[in-house]
Amino acid sequence: MLIYADIYAPWPGNPIASDDCRRPAQPYRVRPKFMSAAPLNLYDLTRPELQALFARWEFSPVHVARLWRYLYWECADSIGAMSALPAKVRRRLEAETTLGVLPTALATDSSDGFTRKYLLRLPDAERIETVLMRFTGRVTACISSQVGCAMGCVFCATGQMGYTRHLTTGEIVAQAMHVQRVLRSGAVAGLAEAGSAPATRLRNIVLMGMGEPLHNFDAVMKAIDIFTDGNGFAIGAERITLSTVGVVPGILRLAREQRKPFHLAVSLHAATQVGRAALVPAARKWPLDELMAACRTYSETTGRRIFYEWTLIDGQNDSPDDARAVGRLLAGLPAQVNLIPLNPTEGYAGTPTRSEAARRFQDVLIHEFGIPSTVRQRRGIDIAAGCGQLAVATTA
Ligand code: SF4
Repeated sequence: MLIYADIYAPWPGNPIASDDCRRPAQPYRVRPKFMSAAPLNLYDLTRPELQALFARWEFSPVHVARLWRYLYWECADSIGAMSALPAKVRRRLEAETTLGVLPTALATDSSDGFTRKYLLRLPDAERIETVLMRFTGRVTACISSQVGCAMGCVFCATGQMGYTRHLTTGEIVAQAMHVQRVLRSGAVAGLAEAGSAPATRLRNIVLMGMGEPLHNFDAVMKAIDIFTDGNGFAIGAERITLSTVGVVPGILRLAREQRKPFHLAVSLHAATQVGRAALVPAARKWPLDELMAACRTYSETTGRRIFYEWTLIDGQNDSPDDARAVGRLLAGLPAQVNLIPLNPTEGYAGTPTRSEAARRFQDVLIHEFGIPSTVRQRRGIDIAAGCGQLAVATTA
């Protein structure tokens, strides 16, 4: 049953709640979930945290290095498989920790051969989506940060589901490990490879799956620290993209904390406050002028360009005049605009912009405003690859 509540009431680990945010103009749809105590998930721990744990247990730091390698290099799927660890270390790990491998509830390949979507089962039986995308030699995992989402974007299947709970760091990390394990096993050999050699290693991560990553700030940042640890997963920060709908306190916190240089993508979708609030209810809490001020602060402080995402909806926000409004809004900012034809969902009547109109929109940005712009290809439509679509389809 869905109930309504204010998600911005404080709860442990919710950084947004502790920021000085106004209450949302309207309550978001929330389905709270209370988790029972669970054993320590090894995927929840950074290497320094694991070192501290082993120091407390009076185990040699050498075993941390071995364990870390098992976790993130050899993709071990059980503690029992870590045979190079002494038996007493394995026994303690088995008694007091768990390895949070997520079982697959469903896996679907797109007919174009570029995308495989996994529905992964969490310990509390909730399900999240992880997508493996493979084209022009790049392997990218699109991972989720929450079960459902509180932001309520009208065209998004996850937004239509409402919010259930944050994912833990371990549940975020486990998704990337799932993809890494699949690649290692060669189980994606059937996916299109555009003439390149089969990839055996995950190279890119986008936090664009279910959920708003900056609403689950601490868990997501810790997962990024684990992904970028040079002794383990070792993904370059510049190969990670975090996409936000525009959580202003989170963007300002990123600017303040000077974190690893991953890419930040901000979903705009409209260049006026009224137009944006109609598509993105979170814009009522964080209006467009506040969002753009936060983006400016972020770029000035970090020296980094922001990617602005624009979902192209036929007849709604895809005219040359709309493109000019975007150009004016972003004038003087280090920016790139990624244009994404709408992924149709059952709960939203809009349709995707035709490729000709998308090209015209892109031309205006590039030639009239000098703003780099790409039109993202639509992949995996037949497997409901827009975030949340598979989860919705399988619970309907
Ligand atoms: S588009 Fe992103 S932020 Fe908006 S509802 Fe969907 S998952 Fe949430």
